[in-house]
Amino acid sequence: MKQSICWLRRDLRLHDHHALSMALQNGPTTVVFVFDTHILNKLTKKSDRRVTFIHQSLTEIENELVKKGSSLVVLYGAPEVEIPKLAEKLNVTDIFCNRDYEPYAKSRDKEVEKKLASKKIKFHQFKDSVFFEGHEIVNGSGLPYKVFTPYKNNWLHQFESSNKNIPDYECPLKNIRKFENPDSIVNKDWYKIIGFQEIESILPGGTKEALKRMKRFDGVMADYKEARNFPAVDGTSSISVYIRFGNVSVRDLIRSAAPKKSEGAATWLSEVIWRDFYQMILDQFPHVAEGSFKKEYDNIKWQGSDSHFQKWCEGQTGVPIVDAAMRCLNETGTMHNRLRMIVASFLIKILLVNWKEGERYFAEKLLDFDLASNNGGWQWSSSSGCDAQPYFRIFNPYTQSEKFDAKGEFIRLWCPELKSLSNKEIHRPENVPGYPSAIVNYELNRLKALKMYEAVKKA
Ligand SMILES: Cc1cc2nc3c(=O)[nH]c(=O)nc-3n(C[C@H](O)[C@H](O)[C@H](O)COP(=O)(O)OP(=O)(O)OC[C@H]3O[C@@H](n4cnc5c(N)ncnc54)[C@H](O)[C@@H]3O)c2cc1C
Repeated sequence: MKQSICWLRRDLRLHDHHALSMALQNGPTTVVFVFDTHILNKLTKKSDRRVTFIHQSLTEIENELVKKGSSLVVLYGAPEVEIPKLAEKLNVTDIFCNRDYEPYAKSRDKEVEKKLASKKIKFHQFKDSVFFEGHEIVNGSGLPYKVFTPYKNNWLHQFESSNKNIPDYECPLKNIRKFENPDSIVNKDWYKIIGFQEIESILPGGTKEALKRMKRFDGVMADYKEARNFPAVDGTSSISVYIRFGNVSVRDLIRSAAPKKSEGAATWLSEVIWRDFYQMILDQFPHVAEGSFKKEYDNIKWQGSDSHFQKWCEGQTGVPIVDAAMRCLNETGTMHNRLRMIVASFLIKILLVNWKEGERYFAEKLLDFDLASNNGGWQWSSSSGCDAQPYFRIFNPYTQSEKFDAKGEFIRLWCPELKSLSNKEIHRPENVPGYPSAIVNYELNRLKALKMYEAVKKA
């Protein structure tokens, strides 16, 4: 008789789940999650919001499975060892999971598949975390796009040609394997087992939390086109961490935006397509994980210093909008998209620090860290990416601040030293006790950045 395992990775939910749906159709299914030592061992801080987020998401899943007489099997170790071991122990015939396009995930899955094949266990993978995969949206020559707009147009064309068909992969849990589990996520101290500590977060994990946010955003999506630019306004969905860990599906997002007629909904859908685009870029051009998409940009001679990088990390640059954004990141693990663009541009083109340093820092701190989107965002900001802003476009943090935080509300929240300044003074303060002076001169360093970039353009 056929027996399935559904291996959860970045898809921590029990609804509209492609792999789970297929596993349940195949036979009695055991749902499994592995705390992967290859990933966890690289996290230097042992209280990490992402780990807490995962723990909360798994707890919710466990509570649902228990209602059906089942449980989530949680393992700790190397997946290429743990998954085949469990499959043998349970006498399973087929393992199901959803595809992951990150280089590490691809090599891990190849290894797992090889080990399973030697035991005559089948390994099945499915499209789930993106709406269209890399090979589905290609240009007239059958090659992947390198520019977003034609990619998006083709994406929308294919979506509309299918009559806006959005699959919903049903997961009827009546075919779940029933058993009791003394080692479940709620029965054991899993934080202790994996060597991490629980940490409070403003965005708790789980599908219920995700749906709450989607419901709130549904009511304001029409205003998104304008509202999304202002960090002090709750104008975006805050769904990124939930889509990163798959508490909701990408199809859930598209289902909420596609039927709406507003410009706000169209703009939001476009952002979700950016996500597909960057997943496609990482899948089709994996060299971006190591360096610039446009390889000549790897030759830039960065002139910035370690101490300036450190001040940027700590939110002590003397540029209020940058400092407020970095302090918010350090404190909460979140940062508004407008601020991500401002701080990235400032680090690269004003502090003249290699964008890889900023990418690494965001990867360590962001709750919604996603290799494809983070790398895409940093390559866009540094002009080294596929469809990046031109190298001579350099955000002026002071005018950005005046435009997008005109009353200094966001700055006041994170830089209390500046609280009493007027709305005019707060963007470029001088000689404020307790607050640093600007560590570099914006106008001068802007010119240095242009020279630094021109040197590699001419070479
Ligand atoms: C330097 C830099 C680094 C970034 N790093 C990440 C990252 O690690 N993880 C991440 O999810 N996003 C990243 N982004 C993109 C973007 O900032 C976040 O997705 C967004 O701020 C999340 O907030 P939200 O859920 O309220 O987004 P909304 O504005 O409500 O957008 C809805 C969803 O669309 C997707 N999306 C929106 N903007 C982008 C974008 N520019 N690129 C790709 N997908 C997008 C996200 O999944 C987001 O949740 C980065 C952007 C920059 C400039």
